[in-house]
Amino acid sequence: MSTATLTIDLGALTSNWSALAAMGQAEAGAVVKGDGYGLGAARVGRALAKAGARTFFVAVAEEGVALRQALGPGPVIYILSGHMAGDADMLGDLDLTPILNSLDQMIRHLEALPSHPFGLQLDTGMNRLGMEPNEWAAVRDIAVAQNPQLIISHLACGDQSGAAMNTQQLSTFRQMTAGLDCPLSLANTGGILLDKAYHFDVTRPGIGLYGGLPFARARPVVSLDIPVIQCRDVAPGEAVGYQGAWRARRPSRVATLGAGYADGILRCLGDRIDVWADDVRCPVIGRISMDLICVDVTDTSSDPRSVALLGPQQGIETLAEAAGTVGYEILTSMSPRYTRRYLGG
Ligand SMILES: *Cc1c(COP(=O)(O)O)cnc(C)c1O
Repeated sequence: MSTATLTIDLGALTSNWSALAAMGQAEAGAVVKGDGYGLGAARVGRALAKAGARTFFVAVAEEGVALRQALGPGPVIYILSGHMAGDADMLGDLDLTPILNSLDQMIRHLEALPSHPFGLQLDTGMNRLGMEPNEWAAVRDIAVAQNPQLIISHLACGDQSGAAMNTQQLSTFRQMTAGLDCPLSLANTGGILLDKAYHFDVTRPGIGLYGGLPFARARPVVSLDIPVIQCRDVAPGEAVGYQGAWRARRPSRVATLGAGYADGILRCLGDRIDVWADDVRCPVIGRISMDLICVDVTDTSSDPRSVALLGPQQGIETLAEAAGTVGYEILTSMSPRYTRRYLGG
């Protein structure tokens, strides 16, 4: 086998969900958009449902269809992008609940699927999705009369505990929902960690389930092992890889790994990351190619059969920092080529 193996610890995932759920009284939902943050929405969703999750959030109706097929009837599946043109059959047939973001979506929904459940999103300052305060003031009474299942808003800075934007959004959300008798939801992972005041009735943890920041106490969920295809000796002065970008300064042992930038391992990471052969650090050397990476295994006691890019020695945040990005993007960039292996669940 020359594809890398992505191991997903469903036990760690569900324990992260339980830990976030235990931080307050609210019902903990689970955000499984982006194919379960790259880890497989069907497997992730089933494990979370078994652990007790009853409310799921995905980005688009197509993801909702796949998730419904994996979960079966019962759990509520919310569609964050709302009711888009052409979605009515999917929403109706698979019992998916759109979270309506605008007056246009509300009209579309009430015309196409009258009496089909829906939620609403309010914009409290992020200016991405949801109805703005003046728009909301105009439609609020009509919308509420149609019995929304959930009213949500989303925090722009939930992962920054000191940000003034959080308290502003919280107070705007309170104003916009004052006097309503409808379940409310504001907190993503960051919002859950901020303060119970952000929890309301239903929380929407995503990244924390998968072991990412800002949930620093999360159990790591993923590890990635890449097979070694070939090892060779390289004499001092010899070059390795495209552009001869790395040259040996000592008699070296070089291993060629079966993964590359086509798998989401960004080429710019070439001189910034290491892999691990058990507890021996092996620097990536030279340019990362499309399907191959060369690493320096001179310090290992024997040629490794595989090495870990993600594991106990190095998590998604280390990779994210080296790539100038966030853990979310490291997870959602995981190659479809990787063999996915699930533990527990
Ligand atoms: C992605 C998303 C979440 C989950 O956010 P995390 O930071 O991953 O916990 C919650 N709510 C909405 C509306 C989202 O788009």
